[in-house]
Amino acid sequence: MDFIDLKSQYRALRAGINTRIQAVLDHGQYILGPEVTELEQRLARYVNSAHCISVASGTDALLIALMALGIGKGDEVITSPFTFVATAEVIALVGAKPVFVDIEPDTANLDAALLEQAITPHTRAIMPVSLYGQPCDMDEISAIAARHGNIVVIEDAAQSFGALYHGRRSGALSGIGCTSFFPSKPLGCYGDGGAIFTDDAEIAKACTEIRVHGQSARYLHTRIGIGGRMDTLQCAILLAKMARFDWEVSRRIELGRIYAERIAASGARAGLLAVRPGRTSVYAQYTVMVDDRDGVQERMRAAGVPTAVHYPRPLHQQPAYQGLCDAKPMPVSELLARQVISLPMSADLTESHVDAVVKALAAATRG
Ligand SMILES: *Cc1c(COP(=O)(O)O)cnc(C)c1O
Repeated sequence: MDFIDLKSQYRALRAGINTRIQAVLDHGQYILGPEVTELEQRLARYVNSAHCISVASGTDALLIALMALGIGKGDEVITSPFTFVATAEVIALVGAKPVFVDIEPDTANLDAALLEQAITPHTRAIMPVSLYGQPCDMDEISAIAARHGNIVVIEDAAQSFGALYHGRRSGALSGIGCTSFFPSKPLGCYGDGGAIFTDDAEIAKACTEIRVHGQSARYLHTRIGIGGRMDTLQCAILLAKMARFDWEVSRRIELGRIYAERIAASGARAGLLAVRPGRTSVYAQYTVMVDDRDGVQERMRAAGVPTAVHYPRPLHQQPAYQGLCDAKPMPVSELLARQVISLPMSADLTESHVDAVVKALAAATRG
C-alpha cells in the first residue's frame, strides 16, 4: 500500500496526460506557453476568483503574495505554528516577524478566538492555514482583520484546494489565496507548482510582475521580483488532471466519512478531527490523534501500513525560529504535535485498503 497512490491516478488519466505533454513538446513553448494561461483561466473559474497567477510552487505563491503587498522589515504577520514550515518561512524571508497564534484542538486550524490579542499596530497580514484540507473560519478571521483596518488575509490553501466553505471554494475566501500543486497535494502536478488567487486587479498585476523578476515590460524591471513561473509542462499536466478532479474531491470526502465510521466502530484508541458545519475537507491528509504516537507508527509500519506525521514539531519550537518569534507556549499545537498521525489517503484508495488501515490502527493503539 502507498501512503499516497499517484500511480493509479496516472493509469486512469494516462491518455489525456500523455496527449497534453506531447502537445507541449510539439509547440515547444516551455516557459509561459499557452497552457499556462489556459490553466489560470480554468482554475480562476473553478474557485470563482477574478484572477489566478500560476507560480513555481506553493512556497513562491505565499512569498509573492507578501512581496506584492510590500510586507517587509518592521511588519508582523500572524500565522499558525502548526503547519508546514513554508508558511512562516516566507514571512521571515521578506524580513517580517512571524507571530504565532495557537490552533483549535478539534480542527487543528488557527483559533480565531485568540487572534485579536495578537494584533498590534505592526500587523499587516494574517495567514490562516486550511490544514489537512479543511478551510479555516475565514469569515470570522476576515471580520477581525477588517475591524483592525488595513490587515490583509492570505489563506494558505496549499492543502485545501477543492474544499468548500459555505458554498465558496478554498483559495477564494479572502483578499489573497495561495495553493500548491506539489505532487501529493489534493491537486498535484508532476513536479513543483502553485497558484495565487485574488479579485484585486492591482495585487494580481503585482504578482504577475514579481513572478518574472519584477518585469512590467521586457527587460523593464519596475519592482524587485523572483524567478517564480510555473512551467508549461506542469500546467499541461494539471489541465489533464482536471478531467476527474471533481470525482477525486467527492471520493476524498467519501473516504473521510468511511474512515471516521470504521475507526469509531473498530475500537481503535484514536481521536478524530471535526469538520465544521458548512465546510468540506478534501483530506490532503487523513489525520487522527493517538497516545504513544511513535509506538503506534512503528507497529503500523510492521503491519505494512505506511503513515506520516504532519507535523512533529511546531514552528515556534524549531531551531531556526528561536529569536525570530516570541517564545510564548502554544499548548494545543504542542499537544497535537505529539499525537497526530496521518493515514494513507488518495482518491484511488479502496474500501478494503481503508479496512486494512483501520484494522492495523486498532491493533497498534491497543499496544
Ligand atoms: C505544501 C505546503 C506549502 C508549500 O508548498 P510547496 O508547493 O511545497 O512549496 C505551504 N503551506 C502548506 C500548509 C503546505 O502544506
